[in-house]
Amino acid sequence: MARFRLQPTSAQQAALAEHCTHARFVWNLAVEQHAHWKPGRKSAPNFAEQCRQLTEARAEFGWLRAGSVIVQQQALKDFAQAMANFFGGTHRRPTWRRRGLGEGFRIVAVNEGDIRRLSRNVGEVKVPKVGWVRFRWSRAVPDGVKSFRVTRDRGGRWHVAFAAIPEPIPAPGTGDVVGVDRGIAVSAALSTGDLLNVPVLRETEAKRLRRLQRKLARAMRGSNRRARVKAAIAKLKVREADRRRDWVERTSTGLARDFDVIGVEDLKIKNMTRSARGNIDAPGRNVRAKSGLNRAILAAGWGQLFERLEHKAPGRVVKVDPRYTSQTCNACGHVAGESRESQAVFSCVACGHQDNADVNAARNIRDTAVGHTVAARGGSGLPGPVNREPQPVLLCV
Ligand SMILES: [Zn+2]
Repeated sequence: MARFRLQPTSAQQAALAEHCTHARFVWNLAVEQHAHWKPGRKSAPNFAEQCRQLTEARAEFGWLRAGSVIVQQQALKDFAQAMANFFGGTHRRPTWRRRGLGEGFRIVAVNEGDIRRLSRNVGEVKVPKVGWVRFRWSRAVPDGVKSFRVTRDRGGRWHVAFAAIPEPIPAPGTGDVVGVDRGIAVSAALSTGDLLNVPVLRETEAKRLRRLQRKLARAMRGSNRRARVKAAIAKLKVREADRRRDWVERTSTGLARDFDVIGVEDLKIKNMTRSARGNIDAPGRNVRAKSGLNRAILAAGWGQLFERLEHKAPGRVVKVDPRYTSQTCNACGHVAGESRESQAVFSCVACGHQDNADVNAARNIRDTAVGHTVAARGGSGLPGPVNREPQPVLLCV
């Protein structure tokens, strides 16, 4: 995802804002339909059904009909994807979109000719019903752009982000398997012992953000001061998001390049067990307080990492049942909640094996992923964590 500053004329700004309004209207309609749905009722309308309803709504409302059906239909598709992500456990439930907050729309099926360069620093992108809109060619536009998203930030600035599905990265062919655990003390722990962290704002930046947010609460609505504060907040958030994106790209590329199989927790199961089983995996008080600020950011980073892994290592990502991965000793296989001595330390009550708790979990995930792969190839896959070294020879393609 590469983002560029759009430079629309004022007439174009009005047209882009209209697209945003339509996308928001359609999206909120979908949110509302799903909000009314309760378990046991007839299923909430799916994408096809919603498209039919959109056709009806367009027949009824002239202002909606005047807009681009491409933009409106894509909003429905994005919503369907958001629901799929939610049920998949990697994202939160899609919520209402409010005017002025995270406004945008997406255009797909982009042709190569829809983006062109005018000069060293200026490019143009073709937006349906708006025409050619200029943008600042501030860095390389990725090859093979399949879609783009136009957004307006809180400061009223327009951006375009081009998305190209990355080419799959070839597997190294070494038979190496890695397990990735979504840690609480760290963002991700690898079975190799590496601990990874999604970059967040630095302490000074976080302080500045909190100060700005207090300022915003005091600033009068519609005042210049408020607009300035808002813009400053937006800038910090953009910086944070950029860093996270960078991390996701680097991490997913590294994993796809270095390992044949990548074992990750099946978050669908994880989220179910979390609500049903109470707080076996819940962090201690201290850790929670510390992570509270950044929890949403970590969650977002995690979701993006999954998505990118699926793109870059298609068919090589194995989702495993995360139950007991944090309570099982990777050395002897003994399962006991008490072995999880603290958030950070795993200390087996049976054999005395000690390890970083997240790394121990990542190793269990790796071993289970090996079991899955073996089973898929007709070997003797064992259910649950497998307490043996992975057998790479069985994984060679
Ligand atoms: Zn043990």
